Amino acid sequence: MSDISKLQKFLQRPAKMVLIGHMNPDGDAVGSLLAWGEYLERKGHHVTLLVPNDPPLFLRSMDGFSQLRSFRMEEVSLVNAIKEAEVIFAMDFNEMETRIGALSEALKMNDKAARILIDHHLNPPLEQFDLSFSDSAASSTALIVYRLIRDLGDLDSLTLSMAKNIYIGMMTDTGNFSYGHLTGELYRIIADLVERGVAPAELNVQIFNVYSESRMRLIGYSLHKKMTLLNANTAYVTLSMAELNYFHYRPGDTEGLVNMLLSIGGVNLSALFTETNECIKISLRSQGANAVDVNQFARTWFSGGGHRNAAGAKSFASMEETLRRFEEGVRAL
Ligand code: 5GP
Ligand code: MN
Repeated sequence: MSDISKLQKFLQRPAKMVLIGHMNPDGDAVGSLLAWGEYLERKGHHVTLLVPNDPPLFLRSMDGFSQLRSFRMEEVSLVNAIKEAEVIFAMDFNEMETRIGALSEALKMNDKAARILIDHHLNPPLEQFDLSFSDSAASSTALIVYRLIRDLGDLDSLTLSMAKNIYIGMMTDTGNFSYGHLTGELYRIIADLVERGVAPAELNVQIFNVYSESRMRLIGYSLHKKMTLLNANTAYVTLSMAELNYFHYRPGDTEGLVNMLLSIGGVNLSALFTETNECIKISLRSQGANAVDVNQFARTWFSGGGHRNAAGAKSFASMEETLRRFEEGVRAL
């Protein structure tokens, strides 16, 4: 039986389903959850859309956003939804232990539900899932969601809100269609979504041009005062909590910053180190023909992960120690 037939079987009769996205949900996680969630709901399923913590403000204008529930252990109704779920979808992540925070504990309360993976990250632990739609060559999870709806023969029931949410997932995860994996298939899907009413220029403004003044000043400060060129190919920025507080930091405010460093001629590896309450969050990016495999780099030096050109990790050491380790890693490249 093909995987799509297996999926069809899970969708045959109305069921209780929980869809889970990763910690610090991005446009792809939210877009995939909302589009796939709406699809399942229209099929008659009872659907709960869960993220470990709140998505950034700039995603809150997405259609159906209010359906998304942010998980807190004490929320009895959400724990119950997990306990009662018959099918659990893991979307836009594949590491149950490290990518969904306290949700991974709650998931242990349900070992009966079928677990289905829909994701595009590298190294999926397929043995942990009953069914997997995992394609690390796909530029976004939202693209995989589109494929599933198409392969299930249901493109006719794709609503405008589903189309927009899929488009936003694809647009955000490709850096507005500028990173790798920009395939003919992607553009054919975009063409189809546009013909279904998606307006790329409007969504571009809706998602990318809604930052606060203080975010703009934080970016200016980061580039002017906090950027280090480690060598001709490597640039990084560090931001402490005090600095973030000074600029009234809100989640999402540093979005895109690490990518900006790659726009310096010759720079093909960039990093952002952001201090939080619990750790230093590391974002890594690379580009070019001989791009550093930052997924591998994050795994080797910081037990992180991600994609070849975009990866991340958490460091529980001090900023100084974290930077020392980073520089050691760079020297070893
Ligand atoms: P970002 O830098 O945008 O937070 O993350 C870039 C990519 O790295 C994303 O695809 C994300 O899934 C992955 N990533 C970010 N943080 C972590 C982490 O702590 N662990 C792992 N395994 N992957 C991460
Ligand atoms: Mn993604």
